Amino acid sequence: MKEILTSEHPVLRQKAKKVKRVDASIQKLIDDMFESMHVASGVGLAANQIGVSARVLVIEMTKENTEDAVEAQPREKGGVAYSGEQIALVNPGIVKMEGEQFGEEGCLSVPGYVGMVRRAMKVTVKGLNRKGKEVKLTGEGLLARAFQHEVDHLNGILFTDRLEKPEDLYRVTEEGRVPAFQGDGTQSAKKKEPA
Ligand SMILES: [Zn+2]
Repeated sequence: MKEILTSEHPVLRQKAKKVKRVDASIQKLIDDMFESMHVASGVGLAANQIGVSARVLVIEMTKENTEDAVEAQPREKGGVAYSGEQIALVNPGIVKMEGEQFGEEGCLSVPGYVGMVRRAMKVTVKGLNRKGKEVKLTGEGLLARAFQHEVDHLNGILFTDRLEKPEDLYRVTEEGRVPAFQGDGTQSAKKKEPA
């Protein structure tokens, strides 16, 4: 299992490199990513989160968190991702964005924090699957949020960059969500280590 890097690692701030060929090494990378994501109980992971600069993302939604998130449409018709599906995309690109959602988002590379982030409600993503075949997938709600979050990672962007105001960042504690920004106007509490 590969270690999931946290936000101070430079590779998370760099644009990941385009994959030239989907070969056995990329398939191995995808397997490693799913494994690391499962261990960390994540919904999605980008390759640079395990230190590999390659434009590869994986997403796996559970049934319960996709109930309203995906359209129940036969896969062969529109390429709409279904709940529980293991999605792996190489060189992904968002080709269509519709609507808007504003909700809580977290990241395995930003442990202990969540933030309120505005995203498109529905997106269509194009890329190559693990066999190197071109695919187009559409997701709504949480799945759309995951697509946007992971594509951001591959461009060196973290959800904390998307916050509209510092007050939208929260620290996750045993007592629940605590505002991470203390509002003293000088510094965000984001950089402080949890006590
Ligand atoms: Zn993330």
